[in-house]
Amino acid sequence: MKKLVVLTGAGISAESGLKTFRDSDGLWEGYNIEDVATPQAWQCNPALVQEFYNERRKSVLEAQPNAAHYALAKLEQKYDVTIITQNIDDLHERAGSTKVMHLHGIITRSQSSVNPELTYPINGWEIGMDEVCELGSPLRAHVVWFGEDVPMIGPAAQICSKAAVFMLIGSSLAVYPAAGLISYVRPEIPRYIIDPKIPDVATRGTLIRIQEKATIGVPALVNKLLED
Ligand code: NAD
Repeated sequence: MKKLVVLTGAGISAESGLKTFRDSDGLWEGYNIEDVATPQAWQCNPALVQEFYNERRKSVLEAQPNAAHYALAKLEQKYDVTIITQNIDDLHERAGSTKVMHLHGIITRSQSSVNPELTYPINGWEIGMDEVCELGSPLRAHVVWFGEDVPMIGPAAQICSKAAVFMLIGSSLAVYPAAGLISYVRPEIPRYIIDPKIPDVATRGTLIRIQEKATIGVPALVNKLLED
């Protein structure tokens, strides 16, 4: 089976009701990123950070996968598909995709605040301020904050370098190191970008541009790839 690699960003989940942040002037649900998504924010105001991610988790649990998530799952009928997602939601898995790598973690799990390798399932939508890991330290959301390492970036780059077909969906390509993954994809293979507002950085090179919302552009491209 041909290896098909998909890199997704917040845009693929926008039509499931989960807001992106670069579409709203660099705010994420009304918050400055520095106030809620950095190690410094957790040090200064852990209750605010916990509450922010509890609210995001509630929204994720209430959201449903959309036609783009389902179409990517259907691609597995004919391709060896790996999805590398920057998203912290679990909509790819719920749509049926079986190989999903979460570069920035997944909000449905909690994480020890002293050892990022200790992660746990969460019962419901809330992590309480009194909940602790097995080492006795507070639990936080299992997400990679700005300024933290992205442990999966090496394996993700390897996967990109082996792709025979590549798709980029709904990412502003403004968040590094994830945005740099595209440079590991061999330029001679078919490389598609689907976004209603193609980011400037992606206009260089030979990406095949599909200027559509994910729920329109992704199912159409998937149908074409399944027929090829
Ligand atoms: P971004 O917010 O920086 O950019 C969103 C991109 O999606 C833009 O290019 C925009 O034009 C495009 N877009 C908007 N509506 C779309 C649609 N209907 N179909 C297709 N594309 C659409 O997103 P990013 O590049 O992923 O970076 C944001 C960071 O914030 C990520 O690291 C992610 O972890 C986090 N985040 C995650 C979620 C989520 O898990 N659903 C939501 C918001 C932010």
